[in-house]
Amino acid sequence: MAKGPATVLGREEAVSPWEVALAQFNRAADHMGLEEGLRAILSHPKRELIVHFPVKMDDGSIRVFTGYRVHHNTARGPCKGGIRYSPRVTLDEVRALAMWMTWKCAVVKLPFGGGKGGVVCDPKQLSPGELERLTRRYTTEISILIGPERDIPAPDLNTNPQVMAWIMDTYSMHQGHSVPAVVTGKPVEIGGSEGRKDATGRGVMLVVREAAKLLGMSLIGARVAVQGYGNVGSAAARFLAAQGCRIVAVSDVKGGAYDPNGLDLQELDEHVRSQGTVFGFATPITNADLLELDCDVLIPAAVENQITVANAHRVKARIVAEGANGPTTPEADRILNERGIFVIPDILANAGGVTVSYFEWVQDLQSFFWDEEDINAKLEKVMVRAFREVVNLARSEGVDLRLAAHILAISRVAQAIRLRSIYP
Ligand code: NAD
Repeated sequence: MAKGPATVLGREEAVSPWEVALAQFNRAADHMGLEEGLRAILSHPKRELIVHFPVKMDDGSIRVFTGYRVHHNTARGPCKGGIRYSPRVTLDEVRALAMWMTWKCAVVKLPFGGGKGGVVCDPKQLSPGELERLTRRYTTEISILIGPERDIPAPDLNTNPQVMAWIMDTYSMHQGHSVPAVVTGKPVEIGGSEGRKDATGRGVMLVVREAAKLLGMSLIGARVAVQGYGNVGSAAARFLAAQGCRIVAVSDVKGGAYDPNGLDLQELDEHVRSQGTVFGFATPITNADLLELDCDVLIPAAVENQITVANAHRVKARIVAEGANGPTTPEADRILNERGIFVIPDILANAGGVTVSYFEWVQDLQSFFWDEEDINAKLEKVMVRAFREVVNLARSEGVDLRLAAHILAISRVAQAIRLRSIYP
């Protein structure tokens, strides 16, 4: 096992996420024989906003940050999609993520279109005060797009319930009254939903459980490797451990921890709380080696372009469940499929988060809140139904799950556009 230095990252090649999203779309559109007009509409985002805005830093200086908010499509409802803070955010990436949100909402049949946002920044280099001022100013800059009936943001990479609380408060201050339904993933105390924080990870567990049933594979003792021990990855690990799995490796941006006998997640969480990273908890492993680990289930839950032509031949997992958006490039996807690896695509595997976000939005609009048991039961119903629909379509069309999920989603969005017709 390679002993990686603390800073080693996973493989990231210069693949544009937008090119990947378009390639996936075109592959499905070709298979479906989608009309030219609909193909043209859906291969473009509906609108893109770029904002450059100043923030007062703690030392009295002023820094200008760049942010984006993209709406891909609104045929099925208002835009839904997270906001990420990262030094690597680009318009291209946000576009791709917005398109994937359109498909994701359609796969699980939510009445939303797809949107996404991001700010180019490294939140770890910002003080809490700077982060709050950045969030409030960015919210104000994109307030021409967001709103409970128009576009409802949520957490993504490096954003959390506190950031959502600032967004909700800023928008509410401008409206003159509280508007909890403008954003989801809020703290429960201000209109957030029970179960939202863990929903994406719970959804990942549910689709892995369904896949294991389908493949006749027991989860008891199954070896799981998780790249990206953040919101999604840590919850997925916890829920899979509760199903009897052994979590043999986890990682974050600083490196990974490996134990073939299974990591003690409680002790690991203690280590993360005190050290701010999983690195140093057990035998070190690089992000690159984690992806190629001898395991039964691999969960990429960090960033895009991790499984590429360079390593797809060496992935040993039987099931790959994409907690992250866009972790597998199209070429790598082809290799995994040829090798018989069961890939549960992102637009299905990580749809649990947006599903409970939908529940949160409904609860906020009705000012009537459900208990966690209800929410988890409803989430399970949605995820299991979507998984079965995608598997059935894959079988009847003789295609892989990603293509089936795209066909299902695109056909639902295309039908909404046909019914609404083209204005004017
Ligand atoms: P997060 O910020 O909570 O966690 C991200 C984790 O990935 C962290 O442990 C971080 O250190 C690690 N990481 C970042 N860059 C890395 C790199 N280059 N190599 C290895 N590890 C790296 O974010 P999150 O909300 O858990 O999101 C993770 C992924 O899941 C993203 O692709 C996001 O779009 C997707 N996703 C999130 C949600 C959600 O509800 N939060 C829903 C659907 C999809």
